[in-house]
Formats: sequence, C-alpha cells, structure tokens
Amino acid sequence: MRANDCDILIAGGGLVGLSLALALSGSGLRVRLVDQAPATSAERPADERHLALNEVSCRILTQLGILPTLGAAAAPIRAIHVSSAGEFGVTHWSAAENGRERFGVVVPARRLLQELQRAVLARSDVELVAPASVRDVRPAADSLSAQVDAGAAEMDTVNARLLVIADGADSALRTAAGIGAQRHDYERSAICCALTPERDHQGTAYERFTRSGPVALLPQAQGRCGAIFVVETAKAGRLMALPDSDYLAELQQAFGYRLGRLREAGLRVSYPLRRMLAERLVAPRQVLIGNAAQAVHPVGAQGFNLGLRDAAALAQALLESHRQGADPGAPALLDRYAAARQADRAATTGLSHALALGTAMRGPAAGWLRSVALIAADRIEPLAEHLLLGGMGYRGNTPALARGAHS
Ligand SMILES: Cc1cc2nc3c(=O)[nH]c(=O)nc-3n(C[C@H](O)[C@H](O)[C@H](O)COP(=O)(O)OP(=O)(O)OC[C@H]3O[C@@H](n4cnc5c(N)ncnc54)[C@H](O)[C@@H]3O)c2cc1C
Repeated sequence: MRANDCDILIAGGGLVGLSLALALSGSGLRVRLVDQAPATSAERPADERHLALNEVSCRILTQLGILPTLGAAAAPIRAIHVSSAGEFGVTHWSAAENGRERFGVVVPARRLLQELQRAVLARSDVELVAPASVRDVRPAADSLSAQVDAGAAEMDTVNARLLVIADGADSALRTAAGIGAQRHDYERSAICCALTPERDHQGTAYERFTRSGPVALLPQAQGRCGAIFVVETAKAGRLMALPDSDYLAELQQAFGYRLGRLREAGLRVSYPLRRMLAERLVAPRQVLIGNAAQAVHPVGAQGFNLGLRDAAALAQALLESHRQGADPGAPALLDRYAAARQADRAATTGLSHALALGTAMRGPAAGWLRSVALIAADRIEPLAEHLLLGGMGYRGNTPALARGAHS
C-alpha cells in the first residue's frame, strides 16, 4: 500500500464520522478521517445544543469508551414529561416504573465532540486530517481517488477502497455522487441555551408542544437544563437579540412554571430546521451516513441517535468483510448495508416528520387529537412500551456494538 492509500476515507469529522472512525480503530483497516473544520472543538463555532441520547446510543458510546469519559456531563434521563400548551392530557413516563435506571442521558454536543476528537487523536491507526476538505472524487473498478484540500497549495491525492460521506445535511459530496435528496423547510429555528430553573428537574426531560414548535428542558448536572425553543424563523432574530431577562420571559411563557422561574441563561445559538432525506445511501465505492444521509427535526431527539446507529451498522459490516478478506467497497456489501438500514431509517425519519407537523397543527380538531394521543401514550401500556422502545433506539436490527458483541 502506498503512503497516500487507505482502506476507508471518511469525509466529515462531526459526531457521526468521528464515531465511525473510533468503531473501526483496532480492526487492521487503515482509516483516514478528513474534516473541513479545525481539529479541536475549541476553534469551531459555538454550539449550545444539548443532545438527548437514547439507551442504544449509550451502549454504543460505552463500547467506544466515550460515555465513561463524559462523567457528570452525561446526565441521566429518569423521567419524560410531554404536554401540549393550552390542551388537556399529559404523558409521564418514569424509568423506575418501567424497570429501568434511566431512559438515556443528556450531553452537551460540544463536550461529546471534544471527547470523540480526543479519543480519535489518541489512536495511531486513524489519521485525522483537519482542517481540510475532500473533493473531486473519482470512483474506479477497485478503488477511488479523491483530492484532500488543506488550502494554501496543500493538495493531496488519496486512493481509498471506500469513501464514507459524513459531511452533514448540506453534503456537497452526496450531490457530486449523483444522489438526489428530498427536502422540507420547516420555516422554524431552534434556539438553544443552558439555564437554571428555580426547581430541581430531578432527572426529568420536559417537552411541551406549542403551535410554533416544541419547547424542551433537558436535565443537566448541578440543576442546570439544556433548553431548546423552536420558533418561527421570522421571529428567531428578534428573540436572539433580546437581553437574557426578556428572552427568559418569552421562554417561560411558552414552557410554563412546571420548574418554577427560569434563570441564568447562557449563550444562545440558533439553528434553522430542515428535513433532508437522501434518495439512496450508496454510489460506486461511496456510502452515506449520519446527517449526510438524513437530517430530521429535533422533536423526539432522534438525529444523532439515528446517525450513530448508521455508523455502528456500517462498522459491523466493514469489520465482518475485513475478517473475510473481502473488499470494503464491494457493491454487494454496500447494498446489504443500505438494505439493513432501511426499516430503522424509514421509521425514525417518518416519525420525526409526523411529530414535527402534527404537534404544530392548528385548529380544535388537531388539539383534540393531540390530547387523545397524549393520554393514550400515557395510559395504554403496549402503546407506551412500543413508543418507549422505539425512542430508545430499538428499531430494525440492533447493531452489534449496542449488544456488546463488537470486536
Ligand atoms: C437544535 C438541534 C437539536 C438536536 N438535538 C438532538 C438530540 O437531542 N438528540 C439527537 O440524537 N440528535 C439531535 N440533533 C441532531 C444532531 O445534532 C445531528 O444529527 C448530528 O449532529 C449530525 O452529525 P453528523 O456528524 O452526521 O453531521 P455534522 O455535525 O453536520 O458534521 C459534518 C462534518 O462534515 C464536515 N465537512 C463538510 N464538508 C466536508 C468535506 N467536503 N470534507 C471534509 N469534511 C467536511 C464539517 O466540517 C462537519 O464537521 C439536534 C439537532 C439540532 C439542530
């Protein structure tokens, strides 16, 4: 193998690309991970998202050695409380009443990125190249070549057996591979920040539907919460410009007083919300994972959870083929991967879209339906169990990494 050859070239060192690189480390496969942004999270733009990770994700991140390094930054979700502003009916699920210690954890996105980057940088068999971007991909029969552009006249041609496209929802590499995408603009933005409510959250994740979109308060250590406030994009600029006290008053009005007064808001960051569904997952010697494959509305907190299952399933397929001495970019392997992800992908993206539209629908009939749905989810045991297991990531085939059967 020449110095500039590798088995797997991963384009995109976000949460999903980094997770895949870690899952492949130690396998004997030569992995190169290229990211357009600087290699350390401190140099990246501010990110104030708090991610709810379900139990399958917790298992995968434990196998990758990441969850234990997060310590108290990974706050357990001990209960889930869902309500709808101005309507009757609530859903309240308690982990203890369901025989579980927790439903998952909440982690600050920037802290998770930091731990993943640290772990990847410590692996000698994964080469991290950043800041640099992958472009000019040319697939051939047995391998592909791509340019790795680090700016200022530093351009490398890399030959790989497989290119994993993990470059996010606006993926230029997906377009260059000739893969189309269905898109939907929700015309909503999510404003995220940390805050401290007057009352202790006791490990409860709150989600309240308003006609603009959901408001969620997710538990964090030391009584803090990660807040997400979804509003019409036209209103987001005004809310972002408000002083903290006025912003908290607007958030309080939407969320109510379940946790008492909301105080001590941290930095606010706004994210436009769009749905994107790639029409295919594979092209010759290329495969899509994470947000490059599908981006969903944050209601229900499924985006990274789904992308992490993509990474875990792809790692499993690549490790099995490597043990058999097979080609990691073989069309049959990529087609099997795409088929294996279909059920989980369709169910998760479909549910997130239906929730995003259904919870924001206006009119008395929609309100009545939402109330009935909340009561049913709370009281009808098989329905609650089905929703809980799906939300916890048990959809389609559970990846080997989540079963602890990965090596
Ligand atoms: C407000 C909000 C709240 C959310 N809450 C949750 C939640 O609670 N739970 C959950 O599971 N999910 C949640 N999500 C979704 C989650 O954040 C995403 O699904 C996840 O971050 C996607 O990660 P990714 O690595 O696939 O993509 P990205 O994070 O977009 O990473 C793509 C990477 O590719 C790099 N790149 C781009 N082009 C190139 C190129 N040509 N060459 C090399 N590198 C390139 C970029 O620099 C970037 O680092 C939320 C999303 C939002 C917006």
